[in-house]
Amino acid sequence: MTVQTTSDFTMSTDAEGVATITWDVPGKSMNVMSLQGFADLDALVGQALADAGVKGIVITSGKDSFAGGMDLNIIAGMRDGAGDDPARGLFDGVMNMHAVLRRIERAGMDPKTLKGGKPIAAALPGTALGIGLEIPLACHRIFAADNPRAKIGLPEIMVGIFPGAGGTTRLARKLGAMGASPLLLEGKLNDPKKAKAAGVIDEVVPAEELLAAAKAWVLAAKDADIVKPWDQKGYKMPGGTPYHPAGYMTFVGASAMVNGKTMGVYPAARALLSAVYEGALVPFDTALRIEARWFVNVLMNPSSGAMIRSLFINKEALEKGANRPAVADQKVTQVGVIGAGMMGAGIALVSALAGIRVVLIDATQEAADKGKAYTTAYMDKGIARKAATEEKKAQVLGLITATTDYAALAGCDLIVEAVFEDMGVKAEVTKKVEAVVGPDCVFATNTSTLPITALAKASARPEQFIGIHFFSPVDKMALVEIIRGKKTGDVAVAKALDYVRQIRKTPIVVNDARFFYANRCIIPYINEGIRMLAEGVAPALIENAAKLVGMPLGPLQLVDETSIDLGVKIAKATKAAMGEDYPDDAVDAVLFAMADQGRLGRKANAGFYAYDDKGQRLGLWEGLQAAYPQAIIQPELVTVQHRLLFAQVLEAVRALEAGVLTDIREGDVGAILGWGFAPWSGGPFSWLDMLGAPYAAERCDALSATFGARFATPALLREMADKGQSFYGRFGGARDAA
Ligand code: NAD
Repeated sequence: MTVQTTSDFTMSTDAEGVATITWDVPGKSMNVMSLQGFADLDALVGQALADAGVKGIVITSGKDSFAGGMDLNIIAGMRDGAGDDPARGLFDGVMNMHAVLRRIERAGMDPKTLKGGKPIAAALPGTALGIGLEIPLACHRIFAADNPRAKIGLPEIMVGIFPGAGGTTRLARKLGAMGASPLLLEGKLNDPKKAKAAGVIDEVVPAEELLAAAKAWVLAAKDADIVKPWDQKGYKMPGGTPYHPAGYMTFVGASAMVNGKTMGVYPAARALLSAVYEGALVPFDTALRIEARWFVNVLMNPSSGAMIRSLFINKEALEKGANRPAVADQKVTQVGVIGAGMMGAGIALVSALAGIRVVLIDATQEAADKGKAYTTAYMDKGIARKAATEEKKAQVLGLITATTDYAALAGCDLIVEAVFEDMGVKAEVTKKVEAVVGPDCVFATNTSTLPITALAKASARPEQFIGIHFFSPVDKMALVEIIRGKKTGDVAVAKALDYVRQIRKTPIVVNDARFFYANRCIIPYINEGIRMLAEGVAPALIENAAKLVGMPLGPLQLVDETSIDLGVKIAKATKAAMGEDYPDDAVDAVLFAMADQGRLGRKANAGFYAYDDKGQRLGLWEGLQAAYPQAIIQPELVTVQHRLLFAQVLEAVRALEAGVLTDIREGDVGAILGWGFAPWSGGPFSWLDMLGAPYAAERCDALSATFGARFATPALLREMADKGQSFYGRFGGARDAA
């Protein structure tokens, strides 16, 4: 037996002549592909193919999974690292990857007779994602261990790219456009059995037989077994090509679906579809070239790099504690949740799901029980979907004690208060809690509008007082905003971060200022929409402009969802606090009039939209036309879009200038996860970087000249425009000094 090792791969050949290449990246729990790794794999395969003593090859992994995919840092940096002519550099790199996988697929066979190749099987012990499936797809047979927790698929589209190492072309040819569509367009992942049923892999075998089964197949395989259908004469794509009647229907449908879902702002889905469509019309090797061209097109689009940076690299960095003060582990063992209303009930649920004991308190036992019942209902839904079991439900419910007795809080190391949004009520609760908890307990408030520093005045230990701001619904929303009051200490920040990590959400840490970060940016978005309505801009134009630039909801729909009376309440409180400087009277005129008519939004079945009796949204309310007659000349789409986007991103810049935000990564990640800010852009700062500071400043000047001082170019942006700086260039990871 001979053994050869590179840093990530080992090859050993057994007595029967089967070479096993084992992928095992040192120091990582899951294999990820690097450029060097790819070259090493190619070299080992080449060696085995050239070795007369080797009859065939099995490619497997030394871990309990096969691979998690390509290293995303490499993909994010590919464009910048591709030289002076990046498109050419990228294309050459991608074509090289195709050549390596094509060498595996052809396995040394004579291209004319298709004879004489060596069989190559992939043996997947577990999860195989992205390039971790594209390599097996180039092999001749794919075996997977019967591991129901394993996930097999091509999730690239979720990252803003698409499978660019032949996965797109091979899967479309293997399954047909219809069969491949959920896997490619939605990034659907399957367990091994489902992957086999879908035709993605060939065999599912017991884990302990995996290697033996793959080796046995390799030894028994005949020439014909290792020729891919697309390399055989007379190959026809399953389900038909675009000019086949059935294929035609699939492609028309897919195109409508993609454009409907992405609103045209996600370049990857369209590029993917083009690669499949165009690829289906030409021979396989040409199809790979087409795939490579579209893949490069996506990599060259700044959206893909920005999405990967914010949604994967930086999101993960924040979750791992990039901004955590260096203090000892602050893991939470028992949390007290005060107020078992909508937010408190959700906070209790996510805490118990993470295995944390919860004391859930409300003013009456009935209210506390009702809050706990939210967890019961959640688990019942999970059981109905087969995602949970009765045992799990009993275990989670067993962690929650619903009571009115503050003494039960004695053993808590963290309190999250979610009572009414009222200074007096919150102050009283703070005192009652501090009378019973231990000296190290951290007190967090879930307030959305009250200043943390002011609330901390009720506390005897303000350094242990902090804001932990959840978004609604708590179990669905991934972002948690942690707010430092003036006196909040590092231990409290670490406690909040460790807690957020335990409940598997993404934290951002901001300083105390009106509306913190997320609400500070989203309120101007809603206000700008309402302002335009009052000016006579067609409401359908406002709503569609927002969606066409990637916002999940138009501003009018958003205020209907969050309720118009809440908008009125916030407006009144803000005006009371700001006095003369209050800039939003024009918005209030609309909001207050809607509220006076009882049009409070979805909850009243009447708002800017009309709803039927069952709460189904029908369309924009017809009465808007009479109340806000539409101007004869309507603005350009892009003007409406810029008003809606700049309203948000300028608040983000001001938050950075004011030191509320201290890290632009948090500004970008928080915006996408917190309020769905155009994810394709990578977030407000990434979007401004795409525009470039000089153009962004120019647009602000033009917008402020026409629409008012709220669009005035912030000093920081002006300075960056003058110096030709970008946000990520200037602030890199964190903000050093604005
Ligand atoms: P809610 O009215 O649904 O629940 C508040 C609960 O607190 C009620 O069950 C009430 O009985 C209880 N309560 C009031 N006074 C109490 C006391 N002295 N002791 C014990 N329990 C008491 O309100 P909510 O929507 O869950 O909001 C709670 C807090 O979370 C508020 O500060 C709010 O601003 C904030 N918040 C709300 C949202 C949201 O979308 N609703 C989002 C983020 C933050």
